[in-house]
Amino acid sequence: MTVTKEDLDILVNYRREEGAVSFYLYSSPRETFPEFHSRLNSFVDFIGRKTRQDGRELRLKADFFTCVEKELTHYFPGDKHRTFCLFWSPEIYYYLEVPVRLREMAVVGPDFHTRPLLNALTQFERYAVLVFDRRTVRLFQYYMGRMREESALFGDYVLPNFNPSAGSFQSRREKTTARKIQESYYRHLREAARLTFDNFDRYGFQKLLLGSHVDEVNMIKRFLHPYLTERLAGQFISDPDDPEKIIEAKIVECVSDHRRRVEREKIQMLIDASAHRRAVLGVEKVDEALNADKVSELVINSNFHQEGYYCPQRHYINARPADNRCGICGRELLREPNLEDEIVEESWLKGSRIFNVIEEQEKFSDDQIGAFLRY
Ligand SMILES: [Zn+2]
Repeated sequence: MTVTKEDLDILVNYRREEGAVSFYLYSSPRETFPEFHSRLNSFVDFIGRKTRQDGRELRLKADFFTCVEKELTHYFPGDKHRTFCLFWSPEIYYYLEVPVRLREMAVVGPDFHTRPLLNALTQFERYAVLVFDRRTVRLFQYYMGRMREESALFGDYVLPNFNPSAGSFQSRREKTTARKIQESYYRHLREAARLTFDNFDRYGFQKLLLGSHVDEVNMIKRFLHPYLTERLAGQFISDPDDPEKIIEAKIVECVSDHRRRVEREKIQMLIDASAHRRAVLGVEKVDEALNADKVSELVINSNFHQEGYYCPQRHYINARPADNRCGICGRELLREPNLEDEIVEESWLKGSRIFNVIEEQEKFSDDQIGAFLRY
């Protein structure tokens, strides 16, 4: 399911005194569906018990669980990191999945617990993908690993059966015909550009991809609004008549190329900044910076995993503390098998930006975590 801004607004603003349920379930690429399924079961049991204890007026409908089960059985991604985010109340049911790891939880409260989701969503850009040729235009949306067709156009002019630029061998009549064809071709491209702009105006997107033949891609760039030109993130060879599976595979490749470039630049900036003490690399230095409230942006590999300790007062994190006392208040530290969750949450609470590295990045493969510092 793709999430729209309106969906998010509804979730963020929703309030129900009798209670609403938020689930975050993470599944690693190694987990099988039966394993995941039994955990889903115990999450639902947990919610059932909790709501009875609280005396909240909240009954998980049987069909809620059936619904979730059906969706996940159908879509269970197997080889990818996924967090399934479920929001439920008697009036609302939202199911979203994000291709990154979020801390698992089941929360019952008067609001939906949307913060981890919102944070994850800031990582994902919404793409519009314009796939076209001399007749057909198709516009897709690609967001968080899902593609959806938005609109299409079909040109009704006659294709040239000779090369309009062939010059002196053409008769006057052929030239006139060629010019008319070219005019309608330009009109067609203008319409494609307008369709894309309308979509931008209505829904907003951060990035634009173009799929066509090389000449056409270069040609349409002249007709694109400057707002769209500045959002161009890639192009690929494609044909609107291609099966959707093929178009989708090309989009996925183009998006991950773009993402890889953005991440590579970020990591290079991080490495350069660390040479000037404006950034740190590695979990120990990141913990130190975080404890001193000096992190402006956390950069973390989405596969990063670390055991460690934290203070129950939640102001001190340490992967390998010298003793088991908090360095700030002296309380006994608690063991945390997934310290990365604490690090991300702590960064979020302290107002730092969080940048997830999703693609494989060689220069970051040793450290896997770093932070830009406030100064
Ligand atoms: Zn402490």
